[in-house]
Amino acid sequence: MQNLLYSLVDKNRSWTQYGNVATYIPELSNSNPDTLGIFICDVDGNEYYAGDYKTKFTIQSISKIASFMCALTDNNINKLYTKISCAPTSDGFNSIINLETKNSHKPLNPMINSGAIATISLVYGLTAEDKFNRIFGFLKEITNNPNLKINYNVYESEKNTGDRNRALAYYMKSTGIIDDDVDEILDVYFKLCSIEVTCKDIAYMSVVLATDGFLPCNNKQILSKSICKTVKAIMTTCGMYDGSGEFAVNVGLPAKSGVGGGIAAVVPKKMGIGVIGPSLDKKGNSIGGVKLLEDLSNELELSIF
Ligand code: GLN
Repeated sequence: MQNLLYSLVDKNRSWTQYGNVATYIPELSNSNPDTLGIFICDVDGNEYYAGDYKTKFTIQSISKIASFMCALTDNNINKLYTKISCAPTSDGFNSIINLETKNSHKPLNPMINSGAIATISLVYGLTAEDKFNRIFGFLKEITNNPNLKINYNVYESEKNTGDRNRALAYYMKSTGIIDDDVDEILDVYFKLCSIEVTCKDIAYMSVVLATDGFLPCNNKQILSKSICKTVKAIMTTCGMYDGSGEFAVNVGLPAKSGVGGGIAAVVPKKMGIGVIGPSLDKKGNSIGGVKLLEDLSNELELSIF
């Protein structure tokens, strides 16, 4: 496995030149576009890694999985569905159009920006700060990493340029999808996106879904089997935004990407995978990361389909 990872990272690194690092959050434009790395944790606790797997990057939209896990834990699922649907999208992750024209103003799914902001408002907590602490604490638990930190340069950069997210959130406030103070909820969202991780952290998040709730390194039950089932289904259909269908065909794994270049992917009953490659395709998914996962899936016949 270790040798396979070395050769697949080498083979796919050249893909990074065909994408671009995110620039709409100015601080992300400092990422090195050539970076490509992978970390795998299997359900028996074995670990394999190659390339730039030690590189730190901001979790960005991969935090949407953690928010969704907390919201599912804290709410009756039927209440959740009154605010957010579980329908895939054919538009970009920060698209506004569907909020007005489709689905009774409900965000289509929790993996796009509107849906994630609505998800955070459903997480238990009397104040926005409580909600942040709840999700951040959960992330530290599921990654088994108590040292996770916010990258404050990225946080400030997101906050200063996050007007599209403000537009989504104010629209949802106007239609009753969120009740909370908009600025406070957005602040939680920006902070969550700015948490710094490595491939290992997101591989650990993923392996908990692969085991239906346990982290192999400490064998603690972190999530229920039914929540894992829901999260994996939503990742499969919505986790790569409007690239989810193509990813399902070519890779065939539940996965979640972020514009920092990370991808968390789950091989049910087998392993959790974390990938980094900040050079992105047009849909905001890591271009080298997707190709690397495609090769890995083909080599080891990992597709769930
Ligand atoms: N922080 C980013 C944003 O709000 C997250 C988007 C992403 O990772 N796709 O635009």
